[in-house]
Amino acid sequence: MTATLDISTLDVSYGDSVQALSGISLMVPEGGFTVLLGANGAGKSTVLKAASGILPFENGRISRGTIRFFGEDIAGVPSHQLAQRGLLHVREGRHVFPAMTVEENLAAATFALSGRKRRASRDFDDVYAWFPQLKPRRTTPAGFLSGGEQQMLAIGRALVGAPRLLLVDEASLGLAPLVARDIFAILGRINRESGLAILVVEQNVTLALRHGSYGYVLENGAITLEGPTATLMDREAISSRYLGTA
Ligand code: ATP
Repeated sequence: MTATLDISTLDVSYGDSVQALSGISLMVPEGGFTVLLGANGAGKSTVLKAASGILPFENGRISRGTIRFFGEDIAGVPSHQLAQRGLLHVREGRHVFPAMTVEENLAAATFALSGRKRRASRDFDDVYAWFPQLKPRRTTPAGFLSGGEQQMLAIGRALVGAPRLLLVDEASLGLAPLVARDIFAILGRINRESGLAILVVEQNVTLALRHGSYGYVLENGAITLEGPTATLMDREAISSRYLGTA
């Protein structure tokens, strides 16, 4: 099976003293929906930042290991080039431009990702098809959207870039449970219906295991558990650590 993303024995550190990841290996197969779980500070975001090339902006560096995107070693490739090659990272905190409308946000992403100016709003029909509630809001400044709508827009901005792999950091953070559930359901549909490979980092274990197909658990920068999500859901270990139900 081809891997969209194949991370092998990766060590990452920040500055001189913080070792954030120690020898982690993980894989996102083509068409896979992989979830990365773990407590605060476990190193989840660092995995995504290493893969999407934004570590250097945070004084982080890869000191060992390889990261391959469709078989190609991408360590050291700048993030904008990776984005143009279809490796899109939806960062934690819903990075949208608040003063720009929904459609202007999508247009800016189209331009950044493809160098192509927006032609017409039909360019964004795919995004509106996945997230219908954005369509009536298309002339609204993004700053006036609800948290859930902003998260949808942040994902929509990645979708206009013809992604081959979508990295999503904490999509549910700060959202009402029903809204978080909707967003995960849509990510699940995008994965199933378009075949787009997805890697999500998530603290909401129940949501992530329900929608993902394979999961990894990260603790203190190391992977301590992995398996098909259906198996992980049954594991006492994951229940006691993350659901408080053991
Ligand atoms: P959270 O859910 O809180 O985002 P996380 O699992 O995503 O947690 P990371 O953000 O990857 O964890 O952080 C892993 C470790 O690296 C933590 O100890 C964190 O304090 C440290 N760290 C993260 N970013 C930096 C940075 N820019 N400089 C120094 N240390 C950092």
